[in-house]
Amino acid sequence: MHAKDPMLPVQPSLAGNDRHTLAACFLGPYGENDTLLERLVVEFLRDHVYWRRNFHPEDPPAIATAAAQHPDYLAFEARMRRELHQLSAALKRSVPFHSPRYIGHMASDLLLPGLAAQMLTLPYNPNNVSEDAAPVTVDLEVQVGLQLARMLGYPHDPAQAACAFGHLTSGGTLANYQALRLALSLKAFPLALRAAQVPDLELPADDWSAFNLRADEAIALLETWQRWLAAQGPAERARWSAAVEAQRVEQRGLAGFFAAHPDLRVPRVLAPVTAHYSWSKGVKLLGLGRDQLLAVPTRGMRLDVDAFDAILERCARRREPVLLAVAVLGSTEYGTVDPIDGVLAARERSRARGLDFAVHVDAAWGGYLVTLFRNADGSLRTRAQVAAEFARFPTPAVHAALVALGDTDSATIDPHKLGYLPYGTGAFVCRDHRAMALLAERADYVFHTETPTDYLARYRGLGQFIPEGSKSGAAAAAVYVTHKVLPLHHAEFGRLPRATVLAAEAFYARALRFAEEQAGRLHALVPFAPDSNLVCLALNPHGNRMPARANAFMRRLHDALRADPHQPLQTKEFFGSVTSLPPDLLGADEAARIFGTLGLDMAAGEPLIILRHTLMNPYLLDRENGISYIDRYFDFLARCSATLIPGMPVA
Ligand SMILES: *Cc1c(COP(=O)(O)O)cnc(C)c1O
Repeated sequence: MHAKDPMLPVQPSLAGNDRHTLAACFLGPYGENDTLLERLVVEFLRDHVYWRRNFHPEDPPAIATAAAQHPDYLAFEARMRRELHQLSAALKRSVPFHSPRYIGHMASDLLLPGLAAQMLTLPYNPNNVSEDAAPVTVDLEVQVGLQLARMLGYPHDPAQAACAFGHLTSGGTLANYQALRLALSLKAFPLALRAAQVPDLELPADDWSAFNLRADEAIALLETWQRWLAAQGPAERARWSAAVEAQRVEQRGLAGFFAAHPDLRVPRVLAPVTAHYSWSKGVKLLGLGRDQLLAVPTRGMRLDVDAFDAILERCARRREPVLLAVAVLGSTEYGTVDPIDGVLAARERSRARGLDFAVHVDAAWGGYLVTLFRNADGSLRTRAQVAAEFARFPTPAVHAALVALGDTDSATIDPHKLGYLPYGTGAFVCRDHRAMALLAERADYVFHTETPTDYLARYRGLGQFIPEGSKSGAAAAAVYVTHKVLPLHHAEFGRLPRATVLAAEAFYARALRFAEEQAGRLHALVPFAPDSNLVCLALNPHGNRMPARANAFMRRLHDALRADPHQPLQTKEFFGSVTSLPPDLLGADEAARIFGTLGLDMAAGEPLIILRHTLMNPYLLDRENGISYIDRYFDFLARCSATLIPGMPVA
């Protein structure tokens, strides 16, 4: 149908074995692997039915064999079919995430192992709230936590006391909230011990230093307290555990807790200006309020460590405690990676000033990029080893950020983004699971001797540690099976991010050529050289100096690039998304550079609308047919801009 595109980008390309494995990974843009998925679905549906029949085969069928001939049965079936057909027809208006023409939001095709595992688990309907309702999948969820912990570089051997722990959430939003909840619980606990005046324990001298214990010190204190409590007789144990419980922030609430500690101010949460809006939701949900969320300035949309240092220094000076600092691994809008190593180094400096806090990595988007940096044995790859596969990835800054991950306190990763899994799979992972005891709904640290000490047995009561209650065991099965089929290191799962980072590099190279080709018609600029597989593009019709006019142009371009439920899907050539660049968030230098290159005057506060491309489809560079959807997209952009700018000659 299409002639072969004259040239694919001259760039490092996917090795043959990557290509052949990738061929089996997805249903495919054309549904190429339909028979494979169909065979799996039918095979495991039958398998499920045998399971039902073999439970008590002596029980006779409860539904009469002849029931299917009854008019009411037939009428029900007809109604069901009619509604399903209508649903199926309506769903044809869905966004075509599977297509390499879709480069909009953070969604793409689904990995077959995950999709098949989810479909096969659904009829068993396990509820991962606890092992009573999910004897199999709750273990799989805890294993997923360990798989992700290993990928991040956290201790992942449950036989070790300080093993990490992770669980799934509905998404990154709730995982971020869980990070806030855990950080508050751990920071506030030493104050409860002080307030209860527990004897024999070596407690910090004042509330400020109690709140500013390092996480490992706070966990050690928790353990000492647990041992002390276990050594008491039953009556003393009950009395002291009740006394401490009464002082905990979980019991008193923020208002009561901080009223009881008048010397301690309500803590801040620090997040870069690029942080996802789930952080705003999180501080509201926790009851801290948005006033406590401080935006850390960025440079090139990456957290500015000097500015961060200055904020920490000011907080220490004013004795404003900090609960948690967020570093973003793959910002939602620009794909940029914060200097996680720099954030950790700044925390070291801050500790010397008596101010300590949790460092959480929001890797909802970029988490799976870490697979590119891991060997099968779990060791890290050097920058040179990773770089050999790419044109410019990873920058030294990105490499340094990713190898520092293991020293952070917790992380959010969304398997439903770069893990190519169905929705309902965010993940929270903390580096030391022992703090989780403080989140338990049933104060299980009190009943230390009765709570299973075995790691797996303990987390089979998952519901008491997580924000949710009932939750999908099928989702956990999907993530687990996917990580088993494609282990989280560069030679296996890494095939996927490798394909997408290569696509992003091809996109970047093409965008630079596009800017040259369009000279005299359009100013085109990639505002930030991509750190990952998300690339933005700013455009301004030549000769225009007004940001408002550039934005009007971009909005019309976006109209051509977004799903329109009133038109057949096929009328769209490509799907993209937009974001904005607020000059005040850019900082003066960056804003001057970007507006200047685009030939725009800086209107006060007017944010600039730019195109945002999520390049996660593994078939953007279709080597089978020699087609680059990236080249085609830029051809489309050239055509589309030409029609939007009256009097502009067609390229
Ligand atoms: C997507 C995203 C989130 C929110 O995740 P959901 O799964 O949509 O709840 C949080 N942080 C970052 C950086 C993200 O990209």
